[in-house]
Amino acid sequence: MRFASLGSGSKGNSTIVVSGLTSILVDCGFGIRSICARLLARNVDPKTLTAILITHEHSDHWKGVEALSAKFGIPVYLSAGCFKARNLSSDSKNSKNFKIIDSHTAFDLGQFTVTPVPVPHDAREPIQYMLSDGTFRLGILTDLGHYTPHVISIYSKCHGLLLESNYDEEMLARGPYPQFLKDRVSGLFGHLSNRQALDLLKSLDLSQLQTLVLGHISDKNNHPDIIADVLSNADLGGAAIIFAEQDIGSEWQNLKPAL
Ligand SMILES: [Zn+2]
Ligand SMILES: [Zn+2]
Repeated sequence: MRFASLGSGSKGNSTIVVSGLTSILVDCGFGIRSICARLLARNVDPKTLTAILITHEHSDHWKGVEALSAKFGIPVYLSAGCFKARNLSSDSKNSKNFKIIDSHTAFDLGQFTVTPVPVPHDAREPIQYMLSDGTFRLGILTDLGHYTPHVISIYSKCHGLLLESNYDEEMLARGPYPQFLKDRVSGLFGHLSNRQALDLLKSLDLSQLQTLVLGHISDKNNHPDIIADVLSNADLGGAAIIFAEQDIGSEWQNLKPAL
């Protein structure tokens, strides 16, 4: 299994995950030209995508979904709440591509078993995903105000993890955001701070972890150096630490069988 962030942050998020002949895009928060360029830069032809998985309806995860799906006939998997929040109707021309999933039930998609994970975030029915190809487990976990016991149970023992480390608490408090936005970001249904990400990592079984990608990093209220400093307090067992950037995402991360 291999994966790459195609870009991550408040201006757009998308991740590509490949195993065998199955290629899954998780979210598409970039316009169609931008997402196609980001895929082609990693030698993925957009028309070969197996599916698009959606976490929630916020535009930094949704922007190019409908155009990309319509252009190449790619099925889109999403929660019923997200479908409603986006005002999609079952008689619109693109509706045959939309597949509503149960937020609590795993399903098979090509080479993958996809486990949706409900998370606390200020969207209609937000979910995150664990993807398994039978050998490796990749967890994708962004856009949550706090982590739950369910999150800890699902995301333990993954080989790859793309985790939100959105803001530094002090920078957010002193930073330029208006108070309502500070309250939203730091609230129970906002985003994970660096400290929360650290606490979560300390709660997870990381014995299998090979690669940790930190994503959805605020450009106003955080900095990779601060995250690296905070994470120096976690025992990551030698896993590689990568920072996904807004404009360039990350390089391919290849998960490898244990020697
Ligand atoms: Zn987001
Ligand atoms: Zn969001």
